[in-house]
Amino acid sequence: MTPMSEQKFDLPHHSPVQPTRLELDDEIKFRCHRGVSCWNECCARADVTLAPYDIIRLKTHLGIDSTEFLAKYSVPFEIDAHGIPGIKLRTDDSGACLFMTEDGCSVYENRPTACRYYPSGLLSMRALGKPDDEQHFLLIKEEHCKGHEEDNVITIGDYRKEQGVDGYDELNRDYYRIILKKKSTGPTIGAPSNMSLQLFFMASYDVDRFRRFVMSENFIKIYDITDEQYEKLEKDDVELMKFGFTLMRQVLFGELSIKEREGAWDKRAEERREILEYRKKIEIEEHMSKQEEARKAAIDSGTDKAEI
Ligand code: SF4
Ligand code: SF4
Repeated sequence: MTPMSEQKFDLPHHSPVQPTRLELDDEIKFRCHRGVSCWNECCARADVTLAPYDIIRLKTHLGIDSTEFLAKYSVPFEIDAHGIPGIKLRTDDSGACLFMTEDGCSVYENRPTACRYYPSGLLSMRALGKPDDEQHFLLIKEEHCKGHEEDNVITIGDYRKEQGVDGYDELNRDYYRIILKKKSTGPTIGAPSNMSLQLFFMASYDVDRFRRFVMSENFIKIYDITDEQYEKLEKDDVELMKFGFTLMRQVLFGELSIKEREGAWDKRAEERREILEYRKKIEIEEHMSKQEEARKAAIDSGTDKAEI
C-alpha cells in the first residue's frame, strides 16, 4: 500500500475537502453502487461545472445542437474577476440535476467530467517559471455520501480509469490551461475585451455556433486555413473544439499559431471604414430629407392658414 502524501494545506474547518494532497497511486476507500443508502443524493444537490468536451458529449447524447443544449440545460457564471464565462449544469428548483432519474444518471455513459471525478477533486497548479501545470488530487468527503463507508480500496489512478476520466482530461487540458494562464497573467495583460469574452464563450461552449463563425466569409478572409483543415472543422466537433482553443490563445495571449492572410486586417479595417462612411452618408441624406419634408409641411400649413 502506498502511503498518502504527507503534504497538508489549509482549508476552512467546515469544508468537505480532505486536507491532504493525493497522487495517482494513493489509495482511497470508496464505492458507489445502486444499493448504497444514499443513492442519488449527490445528484439531488448537483453543482456541476461543465468543460467544453462535456458539452460535445452531452449534446450529441441528447441529439440537439450546442445552442439548444446551453439554453435548456445550463446556467452561466463567471470564472474570475475579469468575467471569463463558465457554465454549470442547470438544476430544478430543489437543486436536483435535470438528468437524474430514480435509476440513476440518464446520461451516464456521457456524464460530465466533474461527475466522473467525484469524490476526488483536481488540484491543478503551475510552479513559478515552469511552462506546464502539475496535477494533484483531493478527496471530498461529504456527510451525505456513504460511499466512503464501503469496503473497497482503490488507487486514485485506478478510480480515474474506472470512471473514464483521462480521455476527458486530455481533451479539456488546453481549456484548463487557458483559464490558468488567464488567472496567473490577468493583471499584466489586462481585462479581456467584450469581443474576446464572447469568443471564449462561443469557442468553449457553443461549438455549433462557433462552426458557423469559422465557416463565415469574414473569417475565411482573415485566416489562412487549408481546404483539408476546413473539411475537418466542418465535420468534427472535437477538431473544431481544439481549433477554438488555438484561436483563443491567439486572441487572448497573442500566440500566433493560426496563419493570417497578408494585409487581411488592414483590408478589413478599410472595408469597415467604407461601411461606416456609407452609413454616415445615408444618415445625413435621411436627416436632410426629413428637414426638407418638415420645411415643406411648414410652408403648406402657412399657405392653408393664409387661405382660411
Ligand atoms: S449528470 Fe448524471 S451523474 Fe452528473 S449530476 Fe447529473 S445525474 Fe448526476
Ligand atoms: S455513494 Fe456518494 S456518489 Fe454514490 S450515490 Fe451516494 S452520495 Fe452519490
